[in-house]
Amino acid sequence: MAVPLLDLKAQFAPIEGDIRAAMDRVLASQHFIMGPEVEGLEHEVAAYCGARHGIGVSSGTDALLVALMALGIGLGDEVVTTPYSFFATAGAIVRLGATPVFVDIDPDTYNIDPTLIEAAITPATKAILPVHLFGQCADMVAIRAIAARHGLPVIEDAAQAIGSEDAGGGRAGTLGTMACFSFFPSKNLGGFGDGGMVVTNDDALAERLRVLRVHGSKPKYHHAVVGGNFRLDALQAAVLRVKLTQLDAWTAGRQRNAGVYDQAFAGISSDLLSTPAVRQPRHIFNQYVVRTPRRDALMAHLRQAGIGCEVYYPGPLHLQPCFADLGYGAGGLPQAEAAARETVALPIYPELTATQLAEVVVAVTDFFRS
Ligand SMILES: *Cc1c(COP(=O)(O)O)cnc(C)c1O
Repeated sequence: MAVPLLDLKAQFAPIEGDIRAAMDRVLASQHFIMGPEVEGLEHEVAAYCGARHGIGVSSGTDALLVALMALGIGLGDEVVTTPYSFFATAGAIVRLGATPVFVDIDPDTYNIDPTLIEAAITPATKAILPVHLFGQCADMVAIRAIAARHGLPVIEDAAQAIGSEDAGGGRAGTLGTMACFSFFPSKNLGGFGDGGMVVTNDDALAERLRVLRVHGSKPKYHHAVVGGNFRLDALQAAVLRVKLTQLDAWTAGRQRNAGVYDQAFAGISSDLLSTPAVRQPRHIFNQYVVRTPRRDALMAHLRQAGIGCEVYYPGPLHLQPCFADLGYGAGGLPQAEAAARETVALPIYPELTATQLAEVVVAVTDFFRS
């Protein structure tokens, strides 16, 4: 039996009735953009994070873009961020004319290394943008202390991390100035299309985000600032409200599966395979990423066995062709480059059966025995 990397049909089956009812509610209303479903989701996600405001937007990418816009970041500004993330993290910075300043990662967690941040701060730095990669918070206690020393805002890229918590006792969404979530279907809380949200405790920023989301229009047809169409659909919000009620149970399932793998792989020498280093109190395992110098051979073996696996991410951001003019070369950020060569994600979704988990375990352990 094949084990896919993710099985959204298995997630959908038990909630299909509730989702169809929620979508029917929207169809009956014929209210498709923003409105009460979006407002309901905004309140529920903000409450889930323990934050005051949620601003529903069109994607996680647009959440990053509009958060940077709300801080007025643009031409000549620098934003300190990680080279080891999905493209949108750096893409949003560059789209505004600003410059991403990449700081290498902690090789254990794959998150930005806070001990390297301060050396990257210049008079042009306008924000720090850490990513909570794979569902584990970056070291926000350290990052907040640095930001406070330099008077800088912090934007959390929490696209993979809804419900994750940091050592300071807070939840993603409350660990910086603003946090950006994605509802892309493969995230832990995924819609039936694109969607995202910015969460913040700052009343003034929340107001600015709401205005920027609708072309800067306030009052209607009066534009003091230029925004964009960053609106969220009611159908997405209706689906997401149903799924949010399941999120904690799904997270528990991911954590349980991670525990099964951790235990099963504990006997493999750490020179050959390392399991995820959990350094924060609540890792939500959007991905379960292992590291091995024999990564490509392991992937070939898993694929042969019908087991889904994927590399997140095969090319670090500082080496992307579109950022060549930033002047980073190969070897410039060695930890990110090594992670891109040596890591692979295994199936971790909560609906995995015991049989499927056992198949993955057998395939991995067999590979390292050979
Ligand atoms: C998914 C993701 C995004 C972008 O979200 P979209 O909703 O796909 O636009 C941004 N950053 C990270 C770290 C992500 O994983």
